[in-house]
Amino acid sequence: MTKTAVITGSTSGIGLAIAKAFAKGGANIVLNGFGSADEIKQATDAVSALTSGTVLYHGADMTKPAEIADLIATATTRFGSVDILVNNAGIQYVEKVEDFPIEQWDRIIAINLSSSFHTIRAAIPGMKAKGWGRIINIASAHGLVASPFKAAYVAAKHGVLGLTKTVALEVAEDGITANSICPGYVLTPLVEKQIPDQARTRGITEQQVINDVMLKGQPTKKFITVEQVAALAVYLAGDDAAQITGTHVSMDGGWTAQ
Ligand code: NAD
Repeated sequence: MTKTAVITGSTSGIGLAIAKAFAKGGANIVLNGFGSADEIKQATDAVSALTSGTVLYHGADMTKPAEIADLIATATTRFGSVDILVNNAGIQYVEKVEDFPIEQWDRIIAINLSSSFHTIRAAIPGMKAKGWGRIINIASAHGLVASPFKAAYVAAKHGVLGLTKTVALEVAEDGITANSICPGYVLTPLVEKQIPDQARTRGITEQQVINDVMLKGQPTKKFITVEQVAALAVYLAGDDAAQITGTHVSMDGGWTAQ
């Protein structure tokens, strides 16, 4: 039977790659995220070309609980259920904690942490009714360890791991799993945007940010690809992963082994 996957923040980067990977498996896909009308059309067309299922776009803003509830309600009404929920939308802001703007703290906690609570609470009743579901939260190596200047991001991602474990325990007997993926540095627009910011904050060149800051802690010295993260999400959504729940899987080139 055709599965339905909702992927938040899937107009770009990791989310778009995950949408494409589930599309290749023939799923109905609900895309979400910001972008110009052209970018959204391009993403929708690219994902539609890969699936025998149907692709919808929903523009819910992950800072707005009512819009998030509507995202899940729309997917459920259109396709009957949300089988796979991928909480991926995320933003970053880099600043010393004492100078960290309060509105950026609130925004990161809302998008990177609270939005997952809102999608999960809305999606679980349908998953329970079906006796099957997969919740995959895109956390980060920063869900496990910290870096300076990323107070809100690190706090939110640690929170995602706690939320994941709690949800997993609550639905363990319902055929539903909940897990986090903890990538290291993946080359996406989010990372690209951080390079000039970090150069400014640290007073070093952009090349030094790449070599000495970003990939310094990633022993493989290579960025992770969005396709590698997407392949792990597909695995976690499969029946072979039915006994993996309440945990995280790191894909960080050895970062957190140190
Ligand atoms: P990205 O900037 O390419 O994509 C982020 C997506 O989230 C976009 O589709 C954007 O439109 C969407 N988004 C942002 N704010 C939103 C909002 N308020 N409502 C709805 N959608 C919103 O970033 P990415 O690197 O692909 O990151 C995806 C996820 O992976 C994030 O949660 C990020 O923290 C996590 N992550 C990224 C890396 C990395 O190195 N890129 C590493 C670890 C974890």
